[in-house]
Amino acid sequence: MKGYTPPPRMVVSNEPLPITKSITITEGISVKDLAEKLDVRAKDLISRLLMRGVFATINQTLDAELASEMARFFGADTNVITFEEQTAKEMDAALAAGEEAAPETAVRPPVVTIMGHVDHGKTTLLDAIRSTNVAEGEAGGITQHIGAYKVRITDKDSPAYGREIVFLDTPGHEAFTRMRSRGAKATDIVVLVVAADDGVMPQTLEAIDHAHAAEVPIIVAVNKIDKPDALPDRVKKQLGDRGLVPEEWGGKTVFVDVSAKQKTNLNLLLEMICLVADLAELKATPERAATGVVLEAKLDRGRGPVATVLVQNGTLNASDNFVVGNVYGKVRAMFDDRGMQLQTAPPSTPVEILGMEALPQAGDQFVVVADRDKARGISEYREQKAREAALAKSSRVSLEGLAEQVESGTKELNVILKGDVQGSVEVISDLLGKLSSEKVRLKLLRSGVGAITETDVLLASASNAIIIGFNVRPERKAQELAEQEKVDIRLHSIIYELQDEIKRAMSGLLEPTFKEHYQGRADVLNTFRIPKVGTVAGCRVVDGLIKRDSEVRLLRDNVQVFKGKVASLRRFKDDAKEVTNGMECGISIANYGDIKIGDVIEAFVTERIAAEVIA
Ligand code: GDP
Repeated sequence: MKGYTPPPRMVVSNEPLPITKSITITEGISVKDLAEKLDVRAKDLISRLLMRGVFATINQTLDAELASEMARFFGADTNVITFEEQTAKEMDAALAAGEEAAPETAVRPPVVTIMGHVDHGKTTLLDAIRSTNVAEGEAGGITQHIGAYKVRITDKDSPAYGREIVFLDTPGHEAFTRMRSRGAKATDIVVLVVAADDGVMPQTLEAIDHAHAAEVPIIVAVNKIDKPDALPDRVKKQLGDRGLVPEEWGGKTVFVDVSAKQKTNLNLLLEMICLVADLAELKATPERAATGVVLEAKLDRGRGPVATVLVQNGTLNASDNFVVGNVYGKVRAMFDDRGMQLQTAPPSTPVEILGMEALPQAGDQFVVVADRDKARGISEYREQKAREAALAKSSRVSLEGLAEQVESGTKELNVILKGDVQGSVEVISDLLGKLSSEKVRLKLLRSGVGAITETDVLLASASNAIIIGFNVRPERKAQELAEQEKVDIRLHSIIYELQDEIKRAMSGLLEPTFKEHYQGRADVLNTFRIPKVGTVAGCRVVDGLIKRDSEVRLLRDNVQVFKGKVASLRRFKDDAKEVTNGMECGISIANYGDIKIGDVIEAFVTERIAAEVIA
């Protein structure tokens, strides 16, 4: 070996380059665009992807994580922004460059939801406002219930003359919170209707909790003041005790006495809404491309998918391309709440639109995009988001993981408390207050008497809260929803046990209360991509069985790469309930497409144990 010098080796380093720059990327960026941003050849990026086990073509889109990983390898830090942000940015840039003067941001009309106890007059009030404040010239149209409507103040003597307000047509906090739990914020102001003859009732309080949790200002409409037994001052007193102190008593809450039936003071109420809206400084940029949220969607026999979209920012134009949920479309026609066809819809306008290929869901974000080409990237982004949402659900707060969550930044534990009697609810509320520490603040979002309802679960899901039930149980539907939304419900009947559990949770000592039961496993022999379904794995069950409702983990070289649920299970062309050892089947996994030949799918069920400490 003497005198031997090894030849210089080509170093194909696996070490990332040092970070020298920072780039901004969007979800679903194409290989080509990413290469351009990184200032490397697309070829190099593709081969790097190959080394990572991803076979990509130049026009293929990458998810944010992979794109960031690649960028990091080529020495760039990434700032990932969403398509909504990207679209907004592009519009802003185009506007700034194109116009001599940058457009003023314009005041937009407020969007109002009416809440309150049943029979206190929500529907009557909505109808009364709608029928008396029709903008001139639009009166001819037939009223259409599209999920929201816009009124204009027509009283010439009013200081708010000519101003507009949008009312969402589904009163009550259920729809409100359901939207919110889907990540949509549609409401600027809540009008809380309280009947003056009946006073504050359970759903009144519930509505307040929901509005507070969403941080939306409340205006109180004390209704039915025409009734002889109306006691508007009692309502003020009752609400004052709950923190909604009337302005005339030195508080901050606006109260208006109205009669929905006799249409008394409706204009005053509208004026007050404008006033509160002014304080909130609601602004929008009409010049930009529209963004919004779906309020309602239905399949119409003749017209196909129809959705009511609340345009929240920008202006929607007939024939705009858009993405909503996972659906792509082009506005074929749009109508207002009087059935009139519109060419444009400015910010804070509810419109019914036609031209979607499939049905979106209420709460879906709506965004106008420049062209069809963007659609593919965006729909991939949406899929990614759905996956993230599924992940977020599994990272919901729960008592078991509380200590860890505190480590990673959670400082507050939101709690919803339901008990059998007012006395115990009060005792436990006090107790929770005392248990609050510097590390974790226990924040009681809502407390009340009675079973745990679907609305409680919705609120918990929207606000990332846990639910404590004391001597009460969840209603069947609430239980189902909690399982679906992964909301942690804790049932107790002994106060010190409850106290103990929370203490232990705060110090990280709570035992997990889930147990897994293994069911079986299957080898992946082949994979197929099926449009609209995603990747289907052709498998053979090699042990036990796999069920349609199994949870699964995907193992690659014995390492878990994904955990989720079976999305479909098929024998030949038919759906199967279960497939047992030795059989072949097709399996797809919900929200996951990256299945590879040689992977193993392991099926199991999770059982909840010992969580229910009811004696
Ligand atoms: P919701 O359940 O809150 O939507 O209540 P509704 O709007 O259905 O009203 C319940 C009942 O109260 C109906 O019989 C209405 O006619 C009546 N009502 C609503 N507003 C008034 C009002 O201002 N005065 C009187 N006297 N009755 C009213």
